[in-house]
Amino acid sequence: MNEMRGLLASGTREKYALGGHATITTENPATGNRFTFKIDVASCECVQKLESWGRKGAAKKDCTLCNGSGRKTGLYFVKVLVGPDNQNSYAYIGLLDKGAFMLTKNSKFDDAAPSVRAFAWVAKHWESDEMNVWHEGSCGICGRKLTVPESISSGIGPVCAAGGLLMFKVEVIADNSGQWVGNSLTFDSREAAEAYGVDLFSRWTAVREWRVVEVAQ
Ligand SMILES: [Zn+2]
Ligand SMILES: [Zn+2]
Repeated sequence: MNEMRGLLASGTREKYALGGHATITTENPATGNRFTFKIDVASCECVQKLESWGRKGAAKKDCTLCNGSGRKTGLYFVKVLVGPDNQNSYAYIGLLDKGAFMLTKNSKFDDAAPSVRAFAWVAKHWESDEMNVWHEGSCGICGRKLTVPESISSGIGPVCAAGGLLMFKVEVIADNSGQWVGNSLTFDSREAAEAYGVDLFSRWTAVREWRVVEVAQ
């Protein structure tokens, strides 16, 4: 387990869990039953449109629906850990829509499954003393690994705690001015921005240099 993992006090859990890219472990101390859930915010329409053009993870910086965050407020996909691989062994169980948890046709389990029943209860009782909740050492808002000890109790990294959502964009030098210029696309990961930069460089012959820069949304 990640050493930046931390117990979330009652009063802080819903905020963490609905940050956008949270991973939580819940425990019923009476039974010892534990589940690890990943709760990811749905993408804004601008992201879905750009993904259909092969721009993975890109949002429009000037999108009026999400203001460049790429997020659809209030709608989350919920998955449960089903295997030993902390990164990849998650099964989709349902949607959390403005606080209401529901199964959908893509849910891997029905409503009798212990993990589904547990999450349905958790989503109505975030701050209850009848359960324990841990974050797993990643920022609840951006999902990146926590790196400073100050973040352990809240589960939120310093950039996100200050209200800025860390995003990435590509800038290029494409003329004799030597000026770095960017377009209106922002990416939720450095990797996605780099993939876009490589692609742009290969297709746009005027580009002399390109770089990825961080932007606080
Ligand atoms: Zn948008
Ligand atoms: Zn963060």
